[in-house]
Amino acid sequence: MDFVKRGDLRLFAIGADNLKYKEVISLMVSKVTVDENRCKGCGLCVRACPKKIMQISKTKLNEKGYHPAECIDQEACIGCASCAWTCPDTVITVEKE
Ligand code: SF4
Ligand code: SF4
Repeated sequence: MDFVKRGDLRLFAIGADNLKYKEVISLMVSKVTVDENRCKGCGLCVRACPKKIMQISKTKLNEKGYHPAECIDQEACIGCASCAWTCPDTVITVEKE
């Protein structure tokens, strides 16, 4: 499997049948997006992330005057969506590609 790059959807054309479902999912790329101007900086998503890659920005301020959450390492994201499920304002989107 070392010839397969993470996120390479050609997997499905080159023999993904031999991979377990979990392996295929783990090779997919996840993208986390925060609608920053709707974030209130409560930090719940930061606590929910098992990979510890969500943080409250120290530099950005949104329109409401809050420091918004951000994902600091998209590559490390496993796409579990815990951050999105936890956010009380539903401002996080997790996509798998
Ligand atoms: S999807 Fe999961 S791993 Fe990725 S940022 Fe959200 S909580 Fe963390
Ligand atoms: S849980 Fe939602 S509102 Fe709270 S910091 Fe995270 S993205 Fe912002």
